[in-house]
Amino acid sequence: MSPMTHPLNPQFNQGTRLKEDQKGHKPYRGRFAPSPTGALHLGSLTTALGSWLDARAHDGRWLVRIEDVDTPRTAPGADQLILEQLKAYGLEWDEEPTWQSKRTSVYQKGLDQLITKDLIYGCQCSRKQIEDVLHQAGISMSPNQELIYPGTCREQHLSFENHALRMRLPENCVIDFVDQGLGKQSQDLNHQVGDFVLRRADGLFTYQLAVVVDDQAQGVTHVVRGADLLSNTARQIHLQCALGYETPHYLHLPLVTNTAGEKLSKQTQAAAIEMHSREIILATLNRAAHYLGIADTTLAHQTSVAQWLGVATERWKDRLAKGWVAKVTC
Ligand SMILES: [Zn+2]
Repeated sequence: MSPMTHPLNPQFNQGTRLKEDQKGHKPYRGRFAPSPTGALHLGSLTTALGSWLDARAHDGRWLVRIEDVDTPRTAPGADQLILEQLKAYGLEWDEEPTWQSKRTSVYQKGLDQLITKDLIYGCQCSRKQIEDVLHQAGISMSPNQELIYPGTCREQHLSFENHALRMRLPENCVIDFVDQGLGKQSQDLNHQVGDFVLRRADGLFTYQLAVVVDDQAQGVTHVVRGADLLSNTARQIHLQCALGYETPHYLHLPLVTNTAGEKLSKQTQAAAIEMHSREIILATLNRAAHYLGIADTTLAHQTSVAQWLGVATERWKDRLAKGWVAKVTC
């Protein structure tokens, strides 16, 4: 394992949020939202732990949401396995977990709201067609890169049936926000993303829409997740603004990588975390703490999971007190 690839910015020292909370802001609600494509591995456990610690350090509530909106990618039984793993690691949730696959009517309502505002259009472009248009415009993309949609179908008035549905971006759409760990962020959605898909041609809602609708429905105030999702944040803030939602605070955590520098994932054959031996659970928690930047000898000497989590929560509070936090602007 290499050390963190995304060190939390130590210069970022505003410390405004805790003071604001004392002035009666909304109570903290955080969430962990795994995709049930397989068991938790060290990378996803690190994200779960960071989000749980942030909620506990704020005396907040912590929710678990199973992000199975992309049903063809889900692995049968992975959701229950993830919940068992979280329990074995002492990461207890405060409310009944939710499953995105059961919430499609709620996503449709969000989409309908955007349709009413004339912000949605149908698109029939294949990936190949989009690549060709970009190629002709002299924009080269690497094979796995997300394609910047060139707006081909914008004025075609295609039906909403059997077509992908895209969000029409305004002309100037630069989203600035402050990540609580990484500092100031900015993304020009037109030039870096393009009109993005909210419902696919096969009728499945996309992650972008589902996550925004769910965070609002569940009153989530703090999104703590892996840095691999940082590039999605501007789109989600734009959607929140279009839907009249409040923007939560964002904290993107360092990614755990393998020796080849790849993010641990099912694709990179990351091993499931062990959940039947207390010694191994504690050793795994200590590895996760290392990636989160809170590892120390006191933590390493803990012999019960509950005590370990108590000490880790104090470490997280120390980090917050040193000022990890700032406000997101929309
Ligand atoms: Zn199109």
